[in-house]
Amino acid sequence: MAWNVLILGGGFGGLYAARKLERELPHAAAKITIVSDVNFMLYTPLLPGAAAGTLEPRHVVVPLREHLHRADLLLGQVTGADPDRNEVHVTTAEGDEKRVRYDHVIVALGSISRAMPIPGLKEHAVGLKTLSDAIALRNHIVQTLERAESVEDEAARRALLTYVFVGAGYAGLEGLAELQDFAADVVDLYPRSRVQGLRFILVEARERVMPEISAELAEFATAELRRRGVEVRTSTTVERISADSVELSDGELVPCRTVAWTAGVRPHPVVERLGLPLERTGRIVVDRFCQVEGRSNVWAIGDAAAVPDPARPGQPTPPTCQHALRQGRTVAGNVAAALGAGRPKPFRYKTLGVFVDMGHRKAVAETVGIKWRGFPAWFLARTYHLAMMPGIKRQIRLVVDWTVDLAFGRDTSELGQLGHPPELEMHPAGQAADTVSR
Ligand SMILES: Cc1cc2nc3c(=O)[nH]c(=O)nc-3n(C[C@H](O)[C@H](O)[C@H](O)COP(=O)(O)OP(=O)(O)OC[C@H]3O[C@@H](n4cnc5c(N)ncnc54)[C@H](O)[C@@H]3O)c2cc1C
Repeated sequence: MAWNVLILGGGFGGLYAARKLERELPHAAAKITIVSDVNFMLYTPLLPGAAAGTLEPRHVVVPLREHLHRADLLLGQVTGADPDRNEVHVTTAEGDEKRVRYDHVIVALGSISRAMPIPGLKEHAVGLKTLSDAIALRNHIVQTLERAESVEDEAARRALLTYVFVGAGYAGLEGLAELQDFAADVVDLYPRSRVQGLRFILVEARERVMPEISAELAEFATAELRRRGVEVRTSTTVERISADSVELSDGELVPCRTVAWTAGVRPHPVVERLGLPLERTGRIVVDRFCQVEGRSNVWAIGDAAAVPDPARPGQPTPPTCQHALRQGRTVAGNVAAALGAGRPKPFRYKTLGVFVDMGHRKAVAETVGIKWRGFPAWFLARTYHLAMMPGIKRQIRLVVDWTVDLAFGRDTSELGQLGHPPELEMHPAGQAADTVSR
């Protein structure tokens, strides 16, 4: 009888684990199933590009079924688990509650935006973590430009044209840089807004932006943002958010209608309902083989797991896709070894580099100790992501999008109604409308 190997989550960790398991385990030996709430993997490093309209949103996702050869996809929401019974609880896309049995399970459920107990945050801020966040943010920025054109009151217009980003890790900084680039690009189409000017503020609690990269490159990125007119406020926190303002820890009350929250991530909340040991930040406790403490058939990887970092003893690996996808390959080899194919290996990886795309054909990058900035870094970042994007079809689509952007600039259509069709209206006479109109 074939072994049941279940993978929870079809993101970086889950997809790469499934692909390696397909190669490692003989065909008849195991049934591999990914349980995911969406049928694609989101290539997050390109999310700011989708938010800024450089890339078509569908081109920054990888459809799982196109990349799985014999693994199954079960579309549904993981809601809990009973590891003593080797069962995972799933609500399928059809709404059925299922208990799915496994011989081995790999948890790769990723993370969500880490919200903090700041008054008004939940009600008035938007994250930049999912594709819908990215599209909502872009649409919102276009809407503020449109609304600013029709507003007579100058103070109200200024608030509409002020954008506050909170959190200056590389994801936040890239998001701000790309969206500022987008807004600066399209503002010429909005005469009143162009005269008024746009205000972008980046708020960061720590002393400097992007602790993930060297201080020298972070300084370059800060200088570049300031050159573009972005106000970079380090050692500053947000105290309160309302529908039309943000209060900062230095006492300033900034009138604004847009707050993007990019201040870090935390494991997906369902991880707490899996009956597994968690460490202080809520990540699942695993050893360097990605095996969960005290469970020989439960494994965890990626943002949801605290995999010991070989490059920084005593600390877990940072939540990056570079780590998640390599942990996916490592764990697949270890599950295969547990089923008799090969030998287990610990997770070993030292970050090869970091790329931060800043729009405006500029980036900063650090690769194997070499620092890059400006256009060469931007070119390198694009080449790297092109090489990393799975599948030639997606790679070609990216090249086409980037080329079109270089040649024609960005589009300002705001298609927020996409996917939300209006309800069909019943004709008052109660008859079929077409009969009446004929
Ligand atoms: C804007 C942004 C930019 C980034 N840029 C970079 C970068 O340049 N370089 C880098 O290395 N890293 C980057 N990252 C970090 C990187 O995206 C994550 O570290 C990586 O995606 C983690 O992989 P994962 O497999 O753990 O989780 P994910 O890739 O998030 O996959 C988790 C999967 O689980 C699914 N899921 C979640 N909950 C459930 C549930 N209850 N039931 C079923 N399925 C569920 C999700 O839909 C998702 O498909 C960026 C992140 C963001 C947000």
